[in-house]
Amino acid sequence: EDMEERLMEKQERLSNAVDSLDEHQEKLQHSEYKVLEYTLALQHINFIQQKIQGQLNIDVLLQEATELLMLHLSVHRGVFVRLGDHLSPSVRMISPVNIAVDPEQHTALGDELVALLATHNLLSPPDDDPEAPVPLLMLDQNADSFLGVEFVSAAVAPIWVEKELWGAFCLFDKEVRLKSDGQRFGQLGESEQLILQNVAAFLQKDLKSARLFEMATTDSLSQLYMRRYFENRMDDELRRLQRSPEPCALLMLDIDHFKLVNDNYGHQTGDEVIRQVSRVLREESRQGVDLPARYGGEELVVLLPQTSHEGAVKVAERIRLAVSALHVPAMDPKPMPHVTLSVGVSNYDTHGKTRVELVEAADQALYKAKASGRNQVCSAQEMIV
Ligand code: GH3
Ligand code: MG
Ligand code: MG
Repeated sequence: EDMEERLMEKQERLSNAVDSLDEHQEKLQHSEYKVLEYTLALQHINFIQQKIQGQLNIDVLLQEATELLMLHLSVHRGVFVRLGDHLSPSVRMISPVNIAVDPEQHTALGDELVALLATHNLLSPPDDDPEAPVPLLMLDQNADSFLGVEFVSAAVAPIWVEKELWGAFCLFDKEVRLKSDGQRFGQLGESEQLILQNVAAFLQKDLKSARLFEMATTDSLSQLYMRRYFENRMDDELRRLQRSPEPCALLMLDIDHFKLVNDNYGHQTGDEVIRQVSRVLREESRQGVDLPARYGGEELVVLLPQTSHEGAVKVAERIRLAVSALHVPAMDPKPMPHVTLSVGVSNYDTHGKTRVELVEAADQALYKAKASGRNQVCSAQEMIV
């Protein structure tokens, strides 16, 4: 009887041990799964960081980051709302898939973001610990619609540079996500949040240097590249073409009768004309590929890599038409000035291989456009060797 009792006792202990072993194994599996999840998240973070590292053009940097975040977090929509600052005061929606937002609405959407962040006390970074993770704002479908987008869940990651709110990544999900065990949950999971937080953190650092770079290379009136930077970049590009030839074109643009604009409407209106023409130039060029710059007072240039002669003429025509459709507000009851410009086009190889040759050829073509009545595009003459 004693034996039996001891046997039962042993059996029970054994079964307890098995239970706790199962429990341990389950815990181990769970933490293994967690480690795997975190490793994957770190891989995503690393990948994104490598992709955008060294990108000094702020808009391109933000657009690429938004695109990569959308891809890696598999969300449906993403936009970076860039708030204005004293350099470029207007709010901009930087988005890979153009959220169709009328530029007129951008200011209102910026205000909406600021109001949302203000109610969560996120207008400035939460505390003095620079290593603290970037706080995320998670919205679910019970939240009011945000930025005019319908969503099931949304994540907002504010970006501060030097403690100043710069804007935020806003990522929207239209679908309910399922956990691995089939349970529904609306928001981004832990590892997705980790990715978003880390990308936001290193962007705050990258943006600091991108911003310094922007200040050093961008002309403040036109928001185009400065001439000296343009020349350096063009030289780089031409050196590259020496090794692997490709078509490349140069546009020189000059506003028509600009002296009359200044004389009739004043310098302020003249400056506004330069601003608006420059905006057209930025909008009509490929971000991160083309190189639009302010060459002189009201003389602008664009370098168009990988662009044939026909392609360049098309771009030039597009710019010319967009400029002639501008409505520049005049300061007083005088009728608004009608702005046009003339464009000269030259091509790599056809008109030379060096910057000086290409600029001279485009300049001659520009002169031809002026002489033939202005508001038109002319190509440089073929070289007769
Ligand atoms: P054309 O059609 O032949 O080009 O005639 P134009 O009057 O435009 O002649 P031009 O290109 O030589 O005129 C340049 C003028 O642009 C002269 C200068 O006073 C003015 N200008 C240059 N930079 C600025 C600027 O930053 N702001 C303003 N308001 N005017 C500028
Ligand atoms: Mg002019
Ligand atoms: Mg001029």
